Amino acid sequence: MSATPTSAPGGPELQNIVGGRPVPADGVETLTVSNPSTGERLAVVPLSGAAEVDRAVAASREAGVAWAAEPVVKRARVMFRAQQLLADAVDELAELVATENGKALADARGEIVRGLEVLEYAAGMPTLLQGVTSTDVAKGVDAETRAYPVGVVAGITPFNFPGMIPLWMMPIALAAGNSFVLKPSEQTPLTAVRLVQLFQEAGLPDGVLNLVLGGRAAVEALLVHPDVAAVSFVGSAPVAKLVYETAAAAGKRVQALAGAKNFLIALDDAPLEATADAVFSSAFGNAGQRCLAGSVLLSAPEIHDPLLVALQERIAAAPQGPGTDPSAVITPVINEGSKRRILDAISGTLAGGARVLTGGPLEQDEGGCFLPPTILVDVERSSPVLHQELFGPVLAVLPVEDLEEAISIANQSEFGNSSSIFTSSGAAARLFRERIEAGMLGINVGVPAPIGYLPFSGWKGSFYGDLHANGADGVRFYTRLKAITTRWPG
Ligand code: NAD
Repeated sequence: MSATPTSAPGGPELQNIVGGRPVPADGVETLTVSNPSTGERLAVVPLSGAAEVDRAVAASREAGVAWAAEPVVKRARVMFRAQQLLADAVDELAELVATENGKALADARGEIVRGLEVLEYAAGMPTLLQGVTSTDVAKGVDAETRAYPVGVVAGITPFNFPGMIPLWMMPIALAAGNSFVLKPSEQTPLTAVRLVQLFQEAGLPDGVLNLVLGGRAAVEALLVHPDVAAVSFVGSAPVAKLVYETAAAAGKRVQALAGAKNFLIALDDAPLEATADAVFSSAFGNAGQRCLAGSVLLSAPEIHDPLLVALQERIAAAPQGPGTDPSAVITPVINEGSKRRILDAISGTLAGGARVLTGGPLEQDEGGCFLPPTILVDVERSSPVLHQELFGPVLAVLPVEDLEEAISIANQSEFGNSSSIFTSSGAAARLFRERIEAGMLGINVGVPAPIGYLPFSGWKGSFYGDLHANGADGVRFYTRLKAITTRWPG
């Protein structure tokens, strides 16, 4: 599959990439990476610790000096080449994502294409890094700002977007002159290995981008490493909070994008078929494992019943299969532990008085990581299913009288990642836009997906930090400014 892993029966043994070379993590525990669709063993991943992190940070620090001193236009050209190489490899990368994550090929391809947009944005770094000038701030005195890289940046990423999320971070950080240590999810490391190789092929000097494979121990070491200047994290809410608190206490700048509970609001004037398509895809695409997945539907009185019928029709017609099967729509969750956790949450909701409209507990569990798309109705307002992130193909449906009531329910959530409204009314959409407490909004769009050149993040418990990912916020996060005031004699 790639040059880095050493081959072994049942999948390669993956290695870290440090200083431009594969480096084994000796003596550490390992984890088996399995295909969630088939259970097939794909690889063995080392669970690196502080020693491996030290090595990677040292390589980043050393190589980072010359990289930061390169003219920005040269760094930008590496991003142009990386964009081309990744675009050429999009099918290979999509296959890797679909294999190790289990999501449908179309989704896998989509996430790589989203990542390409960030590379395209980062290739504009010569203009993005420009400062501002003020002439004569006092008699004969001028002032200006200049942007500089922060140093070594650590990127810690989740399993659900093995391609796109590292690409939210690496292109902007690298083009801005930083060096980078990527610590991808131990559940989906194969795409990360390939991405790092492609960046190397694009001409990134050895050591500027390093890869450390592992889990909690590697993260803990990165968060307190004295030579790591900034941490970009994306993952679940408890870990995001821990990452933010630990790294900030160690004096680092941190952006930690966290978990979600996303509300979809369907008003009576919404177009039924298009709304059903969007809600179906938002709730059940990638088995509900998107941070933007809609997991609660708040539906107005007249659309409520027809929308449920339309959703059931779509579920009944959706083929189940491995992500790598181009016809598959219903794909597995990441592992059996996740499946068990989601089934337990469904059972708990039913015990609290809710009813399954479709899906639900398995009559016969045949193993594997597949779960049926599940719609829960008659859910109590206090039910945990309305408040906790399940990260599975489960949609709780609650009837509401009107938009006011829907907004009020959604705003009670501790999370605020995304929310969508479905309506033909501009006035309703405007009210929603102004009053809903979430960072990413969809208006007749079920998944308000990130765009490389716009900042992207949630609100409230879905985000810890100040500057969001992507776009101008990304550039600001990965740079620090000097304000220079100048007076020349004479
Ligand atoms: P996760 O929090 O389990 O893991 C994320 C990263 O943290 C991984 O690299 C993992 O190795 C590491 N990690 C896990 N436990 C740790 C611990 N105790 N200490 C230190 N590091 C630890 O998340 P996941 O299950 O891989 O991803 C799914 C979660 O990510 C969901 O909650 C989802 O909403 C969230 N997510 C959020 C966004 C967003 O933009 N807000 C985007 C994608 C995913």
